[in-house]
Amino acid sequence: MAELEKLQMYIGGQRCDAASGETFESLYPFTGKAWATVPRGGAEDVDRAVAAAKKALTSGDWPAMTPTQRGHMLRKLGDVLAKNAERLGKLEVQDNGKLIAEMGLQTQYSAQWYYYFGGLADKIEGSVLPIDKPDTFTYTRSEPLGVVGMITPWNSPILLLTWKLAVALAAGNTVVVKPSEFTSASTLAFADLVEEAGFPEGVFNVITGYGAEAGEALVTHPDVAKIAFTGGSKSGTHVYERAAAGLKKVSLELGGKSPNIVFGDCNLENAVKGAISGIFAATGQTCIAGSRLLVQENIHDEFVDKLVDFAKTAQMGDPMSMDTQVGPVTTIPQYEKILGYMDVAKEDGAECVMGGTKADRPECGDGWFVEPTVYTGVNNKMRIAQEEVFGPVLSVIPFKDDEEAIEIANDVEFGLAAGVWTSDIRRAIEVPKRVQAGTVWVNTYRAVSFVAPFGGYKKSGLGRESGQAAIEDWMQTKAVWISTSMETPNPFVLR
Ligand code: NAD
Repeated sequence: MAELEKLQMYIGGQRCDAASGETFESLYPFTGKAWATVPRGGAEDVDRAVAAAKKALTSGDWPAMTPTQRGHMLRKLGDVLAKNAERLGKLEVQDNGKLIAEMGLQTQYSAQWYYYFGGLADKIEGSVLPIDKPDTFTYTRSEPLGVVGMITPWNSPILLLTWKLAVALAAGNTVVVKPSEFTSASTLAFADLVEEAGFPEGVFNVITGYGAEAGEALVTHPDVAKIAFTGGSKSGTHVYERAAAGLKKVSLELGGKSPNIVFGDCNLENAVKGAISGIFAATGQTCIAGSRLLVQENIHDEFVDKLVDFAKTAQMGDPMSMDTQVGPVTTIPQYEKILGYMDVAKEDGAECVMGGTKADRPECGDGWFVEPTVYTGVNNKMRIAQEEVFGPVLSVIPFKDDEEAIEIANDVEFGLAAGVWTSDIRRAIEVPKRVQAGTVWVNTYRAVSFVAPFGGYKKSGLGRESGQAAIEDWMQTKAVWISTSMETPNPFVLR
């Protein structure tokens, strides 16, 4: 048996094991075999990482740097990341089983966030206030929050870290990140790139471990000013409650049950591709999955036939092959959860027109594969329409007209994203206004950018990542008052 790679945490610029010396294994979802060991960090490790970040915040080169210098360093990090994108993408595939065809490009594109927020670092201005007091000069400064904690999920580790990290560093914070226990490797490797870009030690730290141990210790640490969390709604709610006890700022990027709404007047071929990209890309393991496909009654049957014909051509198998289109499920619990939802759909009376089982194909080897699955006859009250499956499982729901489409679209506790397919300009403008979601795509799906704010309505989260305004969530405002008076007035009254 090949020897497992031994991964180490990154604290204060040094590689280290967990204080306990304990580790756990990381598995490759395509083979189901362990390929690396990961330190099982706990409270003691979090203490050390937070102490290193606190030191870097107040002493040494980082606080002395001008915003322009920080911006240069961020752009350098973008360059280093772009240069290493392929290697990092492969590491992600090894950990999460998503496709190399997507992860390489995604990692390459992540560099853009460092360029964008690097450019923004020296454009955050305070103001001189037209204060209503004589002999007084009052101005505001935007300052970093301090040490910030980041907790990321397993589906796109570098991209989702980047959405937080680029902006947090641009604002001058120092960082402790805990990646998912299932996918720690790329974040650990990324620490080398941060070092290569020249960031002072302690500015960026990585602790690994389980949510209930390392994650919990980070969320409750008294010296952490903010927790930026991406993950499931259940753990997100728990993190919110725990962080509230310490009065920490919190941002949450959580799950979704996004409606992809297909109107009868759409370009059918494009809409079929949009539906496919909404649910089968990334094996459906994305928060923005268009897992509820709302199809207007007059095209329902024709649309479903076309969709199933197209979906049947999807190639499954080795995620490291550029030809593979649907890869394995990332984790065993997730695999079991998806299969469980297939039972739920059957019990609820949904009609399975494609898939509905685990995948038993030679090209899938020992990996945790499920068949791309389509259910029709779904009623929006069914669990399969209300709960996030996080897999390649599509619920098709028919609707009559615009009113009914919008009602169904919004009748869910989530509000992360939505798609609208139409060639009617009125619908293209009016429907997005009424859909309760942080992102609405019209005649496209699954597009993201550093320029566009991203986040959830309702139970899909709190706060926005990306876009210029995001930087405000990583800073705090100070008002500075300077008296130019020669005399201090009555000290017993409010001035
Ligand atoms: P998860 O909630 O199980 O884990 C996410 C992270 O939280 C992991 O690092 C985990 O260790 C940590 N964690 C778990 N319990 C914790 C606790 N008590 N305290 C502190 N940390 C804790 O989610 P997952 O299964 O890794 O990811 C899938 C979920 O993430 C899906 O629901 C998906 O929709 C969501 N997601 C959302 C977005 C978004 O931007 N809105 C993006 C990607 C994924």
